[in-house]
Amino acid sequence: MAISLDDLPIRDDLRGQSPYGAPQKKVPVALNVNENTHPIPEDVARDIVESLAAAVLDVNRYPDREFTPLREALARYIGHGVQADQIWAANGSNEVIQQILQAFGGPGRSVLGFPPTYSMHSIITRGTGTEWLEGRRDAGFDISPDTVRAEIERTDPDIVFLCAPNNPTGTPLELDTIEAAYEASRGIVLVDEAYFEFMPADRPSAVTLLDGRPRLLVSRTMSKAFAFAGARVGYLAADPAVIDALRLVRLPYHLSSLTQAAAVAALRHADEMLAMVDDIKAQRDRIVHELTELGYKPWPTWSNFVLFGGVDDPHAVFEALLARGIIVRDLSIPGHLRVSAGTEAETTAFLNALRDIR
Ligand code: PMP
Repeated sequence: MAISLDDLPIRDDLRGQSPYGAPQKKVPVALNVNENTHPIPEDVARDIVESLAAAVLDVNRYPDREFTPLREALARYIGHGVQADQIWAANGSNEVIQQILQAFGGPGRSVLGFPPTYSMHSIITRGTGTEWLEGRRDAGFDISPDTVRAEIERTDPDIVFLCAPNNPTGTPLELDTIEAAYEASRGIVLVDEAYFEFMPADRPSAVTLLDGRPRLLVSRTMSKAFAFAGARVGYLAADPAVIDALRLVRLPYHLSSLTQAAAVAALRHADEMLAMVDDIKAQRDRIVHELTELGYKPWPTWSNFVLFGGVDDPHAVFEALLARGIIVRDLSIPGHLRVSAGTEAETTAFLNALRDIR
């Protein structure tokens, strides 16, 4: 007889929770999980394959537990004087965030987040037995220094999660809001910069605030701008003492030797990998422009996706697009859908289908 999850002796606090829910469908135009839809350049792919071939010869041995060459390559890529002993990496920034909560969260501790935000922030928080608290945003999904201060004072969290630019809204976050959060809080402040590379080039990263702020953590990922989502590489820049804390909770050898080799090879070609970013930004801006012409209400965005309102029946539009081989994201925000910027052809297919449906 089939049993359900509720019949199992699962933790009480997990009962009734939902898993991460983005549908995975094989469709010609997938614009629902903010991937980089551009394949990596062929010569970079060749170099990665060569590195993997060399790594395979050692695959009988456990990998370098400290993934030193990868941490050095990431430190070089981040710049701003960040050193390898300030870097951590894991299988996607999701795993980095999980390790942060294993070290700094847990039962009896709390995280303050600012919805609407990345759904995994609350799922990972609850999964580690940590309490999830919600702060309010200002108009336009902004968070001002005054608002962040007030929400931290109201909730007194152990950890504050900020997302810059924010998913799913695309909203940037000013550095003075991050500074205000740091000063107002007694605990960890994590800035999730998964979409950092899609911001205007002159916009500073929270990494520039790390000096003298040992409770500030900045996570990023190779999944988006670097077109490396399938390889699973996310990373963190923080004080070396924070990295020591993560060593206490990571599983030994959590980052496979193949992952390490592929990521180091890709980082050797950072400029070439990031050459796609300008085109993605152009497609994103085109989506904003054309959605506005169609009478929708796209929010200003600094990432590789667009959240747009003015959708009478988001679920019906989602289904109508799906019937045309295009998947976008229905996030249950009333009147809204989110779409990732695709290649020029994918973006055209999406816009044409939407015109057709309208
Ligand atoms: N942070 C944000 C804001 C995201 O949108 C995502 C992916 N959608 C991630 C982190 C996780 O990415 P990954 O685990 O692939 O690094």
